[in-house]
Order: sequence, then structure tokens, then C-alpha cells
Amino acid sequence: MTGALHPRSTEISFLLNNGTRMPAFGLGTANPPEKLAETKQAVKAAVKAGYRQIDTAWAYGTEPFVGAAIKELIEEGVIKREDLFITSKVWPVMWDEAERSLQQTLASLGVGYIDMWLQHWPLCYNKQKDEHGVCGLARNPEKPDGEPDYNLDADWIETYKQMEKIYLDPTDHRVKAIGVSNFPIEYIQRLFKECRVRPALNQVEAHPRLPQLEMMKFCHENGMLMTAYSPLGSHGAPNIKLPLVQELSKKYDSSPNDILTSYHIRQGNIVIPRSLNPTRISSNIQFVALSAEDISRLNDIGVQDPKRYVDEKWNVIVPGFTGAGPAL
Ligand code: NDP
Repeated sequence: MTGALHPRSTEISFLLNNGTRMPAFGLGTANPPEKLAETKQAVKAAVKAGYRQIDTAWAYGTEPFVGAAIKELIEEGVIKREDLFITSKVWPVMWDEAERSLQQTLASLGVGYIDMWLQHWPLCYNKQKDEHGVCGLARNPEKPDGEPDYNLDADWIETYKQMEKIYLDPTDHRVKAIGVSNFPIEYIQRLFKECRVRPALNQVEAHPRLPQLEMMKFCHENGMLMTAYSPLGSHGAPNIKLPLVQELSKKYDSSPNDILTSYHIRQGNIVIPRSLNPTRISSNIQFVALSAEDISRLNDIGVQDPKRYVDEKWNVIVPGFTGAGPAL
């Protein structure tokens, strides 16, 4: 098998702009609401298979289950806390309360620090109580007419400024690196001008249908990494069925999942596929050394026929997120 000549995807890491290393491959945990508790067995299966990065977020509701898995893995002697790289995020509902968000994240995870802390989206929501929401707040608050309840007077940069204050405090060791997610290039350029800490990475949807070539170039030219979310195309993993992915799976004698994740690692990007299926979790970790020509063919799919699967309402107020809007 071609992959056997190379390290596993779980063994590869990239250097961050703060001098530390981040595993190139991690487990996504944005699991469906009715399956949140299954996150625990998925994280345990992943870590036992060799995964060392877990991607979660305040908004996913999975932090307590990630935390329960980590606790058991440490008790079982499988890992120590420092063996793991944990990413979490501040949701727009908490745009002006980064400190509270961090406290809730650390308490849910049952850890003293996280390795990467991201601003989840560059936008601000109003707070609405919801006993079924995350920590008592509605995750996606709506106005009576059903439209999202944005706080349009607030400035999304406030969240990043609060995060960097915590990160820069020499007496505070709860956050090892900060970054952003779903930020168009113009928004990152504003951070460069108005903030002190350059984000370590931008986490965005990326796969052959949405190759993010401009964003990747921008990140790599500016000392940042790009993390690819929804690498399989999210629910139902539609990218697995792409004819070229199937063809390459045969050519390299590997699974379509491994083609879709190696595609990112080969280009210097981090990738965080999600699964609750322990067999898929443990078997889809082979790194496939795709040729430059095959990478280019995969990129061409999205250049010709782009498709964004995570298509949120707030595309409208984050100009550039759709690729259509201009600056700020
Ligand atoms: P993925 O692209 O990773 O796809 C996950 C889905 O693919 C699951 O439903 C999984 O089901 C299914 N799947 C995996 N392998 C197969 C297979 N061989 N055949 C059929 N189905 C398969 O989706 P996500 O959108 O979850 O993205 C990954 C992670 O990225 C998230 O979990 C989250 O951590 C992060 N993310 C971040 C966002 C952000 O705004 N920053 C937004 C979206 C995601 P099964 O469980 O049955 O294997």
C-alpha cells in the first residue's frame, strides 16, 4: 500500500507562528445535537488510534463529552494532557465575553489550558436566554420575524482584542495560541493593522469543491496556517463520491477519506474530519503522497464548479465570506 511508505496523517505536524507545533490531522466534533454523547467514544477511539488533535467549540455542546473522554484516557494511562492538542472557539453570542467563554470551555473540558483558541465567526449576536441552548443561551438567536438577531452596533474585532489580551497576559497560561475561523482575507488584514497578535491560523471550509487557493496563499505568505473544515463535504460526506476522488482512491490503493484529508496535508494545511464511527476513525489515517499533478486536478474541480456546503445565513453580513463581497 502506497501510504505504508509514509508516516500516518496522525504523525505529521506543522510549525505555528508562536514556535510550537500543531498536529496536521485532528478529529472534528461538530456532531448532530441528538448524538452529542457519542462524542466521548469517538474521541477515545481516535486517541487510541493515534490522533493527537481534537477540534471542538463552545457552540458545539460537545466540550463536556470531549472532556469526559480525555479524563478517562488519562486515567487509563493512554495519554497525558500535554500529548493532546485541543482547539476550541468563541461563538458570536459571547462576542463581548471572551473570558466567560474561556472559563466555560475549560470547565467543560476539565483541563487547565487549551492549545488553540479561535474566534469562531467575525460577527456579533445578541444574547437570548434558552434553557436548551449552550450554557443557557440561544446558539443562533432569532428576532420575532425569524431573522438572525445580530448586534449590528457591535464590532467583531472586540472579541479578538479580548482574546489577545488573555493570550498576552504573562501570568495567564490558559491559552497557548490564538487564531480565527471563517475570516475573509480583508478581515484578517484589519486584524494585522489593529491588533498585536497575528492569528496562528484561519479555519475555513475547504475541500476539492472549495479549494480556497487564494486564502491558502494569503495564509502561507503571512506566517499563518489554514485549517480545512468539512473536508468530506459535511453531512453524508458527498465529496467521497467525486469521480476523481474515487479514481485516486484506486490509483493510490487508499480510502476516499484518506485522499480527501491527505489532499490538505500535502498542501501544508491542517485538516479535521469528523466521524462517530470507530472503524472509520481508526482506519482513515493513512497519509497518501498525492502527486502535484493530482493535487492540481483535485483543485481544478472547485475552480471549475465551486460548492460551499456550510452555507450560513450570515454570509450576508460577512462580506467576502461568499467570495462575492468586497471589504469591511
Ligand atoms: P466532515 O466533512 O468531516 O464530514 C463528516 C460526516 O461525514 C459525518 O457525518 C460522517 O459520518 C460522514 N462520513 C465520514 N466518512 C464517511 C464515509 N466513508 N461514508 C459515509 N459518510 C462518512 O464534516 P464537518 O462539517 O463535521 O467538518 C469537520 C469538522 O470541522 C467539524 O466536526 C468541526 O470540528 C469543524 N467545523 C468547523 C466549522 C467552523 O465554523 N469553524 C464549521 C464546520 C465544521 P459518521 O459519523 O457516520 O462517520
